[in-house]
Amino acid sequence: MTLFDVPGWSVPDEPVRVKPKKRKRTSKQNFDKVQSATVTLERLMEQLAASPAAETTRSDPKEEKSGGVSADGDRPAKKRRRVKKNKSQQSPTPTAIQEDGTHEASRKKRKKDKRKESSGEKVTGTPSPLKSRPPPEPRSTLTSLQHGMKQSLDGARFRWINEKLYKSDSAHAHAMMREDPAVFDDYHKGFRRQVESWPSNPVSHYISALSSYPPRTVIADLGCGDAALARALIPKGYTVMSFDLVADHSFVVDADIFDRLPLPGSEPDGDEVKNPGQGHAQVVNVVVCALSLMGTNWPNCIREAWRILRPNGELKIAEVASRFTNVQQFQSFVESFGFKHKSTDDSNTHFKIFEFEKTSRKPRGEKDWNKLLTRGDMLKPCEYKRR
Ligand code: SAH
Repeated sequence: MTLFDVPGWSVPDEPVRVKPKKRKRTSKQNFDKVQSATVTLERLMEQLAASPAAETTRSDPKEEKSGGVSADGDRPAKKRRRVKKNKSQQSPTPTAIQEDGTHEASRKKRKKDKRKESSGEKVTGTPSPLKSRPPPEPRSTLTSLQHGMKQSLDGARFRWINEKLYKSDSAHAHAMMREDPAVFDDYHKGFRRQVESWPSNPVSHYISALSSYPPRTVIADLGCGDAALARALIPKGYTVMSFDLVADHSFVVDADIFDRLPLPGSEPDGDEVKNPGQGHAQVVNVVVCALSLMGTNWPNCIREAWRILRPNGELKIAEVASRFTNVQQFQSFVESFGFKHKSTDDSNTHFKIFEFEKTSRKPRGEKDWNKLLTRGDMLKPCEYKRR
């Protein structure tokens, strides 16, 4: 089972839904739940890390040998009791996790799977998250139990942030990141984990495609994430300007790409002499939007891409395949901003990769713009599927 409606887009420690009907909540309730679970777990983990029991568990060679957590994810009863004792000493307790169904549900499923395995029955569905779980980070002082809890927490938090980014206006997302930049870091930690499980990555495709462009090519990477394009292409002599919701004070410039990009360029005004209908003063040859059309107001990013692109510049868009209800309609929609569709690569099961070229366009009134800019529903959000 995948996290989104996309093969490969999954978080290994995805909680398993036990009773789907009873657990249906509103989006707001879900956000509150995850937030509350986050706070509760973080506190618990801090306390566990500081507790003598955690120390004992870490230094117990027998447990280290068996990996701390057994293959089916159940701790030995003795250890479980020890943690319970700790729980009773602490407030708040991790009940939020169990209310949310995450730990309890995955534990039950793992137990069930183990029973099936021992009876020779084929285990179907998601492989045990513990089996595919990467080893703890080398400098981590967490016990295996804490590490497992942290992974569940990270996965839930990633899904929560991801949902926020897809289902809200970019101003809201930008404010959320500004208030707490840790949200951005947590999102990207989760995103990197996703990328590791994909057979290919649009950014790698763009790095190799753009490496054969003329050396003076100026590229704007809108929604750049870790700025992988800039890191790979700047050393080769390309100019890459990378924008995302939070700056990293080296490669990434803070900007809401669906609002106004801090780059020169104008809309057409009818006064263009050399390139009629293409605006003035642009410096960018290629705009890349790799999986970044996330907020509900993403169409304004297409308008901004047109504004900053030099005459006949290129717009490259990669998006998750399952977001499209009608690819043809999407292409025509982008064209209506003043682009010519050049190609669509849908050979990849995960992504669709589009190429557009900037063309001339007539000045347009705000009423016409409003019709276009409110069509964010043309791309579906990447939905987290509860199991
Ligand atoms: N392009 C990168 C990152 C993809 S993840 C890659 O392919 O590796 C999507 C990125 O878009 C995230 O980093 C997210 O923060 C960014 N993003 C989404 N909405 C944005 C907005 N309104 N303004 C700037 N960046 C945005």
